[in-house]
Amino acid sequence: MTQRKLSQEELQVLRDISIRDLLGVRSGRKEVKIRCPFHDDNTPSCSLYIDNTFYCHACAVTGKGAIDFFIKQGNSMAKVIDELANQL
Ligand SMILES: [Zn+2]
Repeated sequence: MTQRKLSQEELQVLRDISIRDLLGVRSGRKEVKIRCPFHDDNTPSCSLYIDNTFYCHACAVTGKGAIDFFIKQGNSMAKVIDELANQL
């Protein structure tokens, strides 16, 4: 894997990719709940908000943007950036 060199602007574009779109969640609602990817979740505990922030009501993981969302699942920054860049 080659390490991409991205500018701050390009990183912001990746952060702004909709987490809902990446997960295939189609909703215009302000808050959508999904099964939490940060803990072993039996019921949808993790809220995805319309502003691309997320918060798990069970394990309290929270953050903003697509990069944050995937890094908090234990992926490396390089891997996350590479995969998100491929979505553009
Ligand atoms: Zn959780």
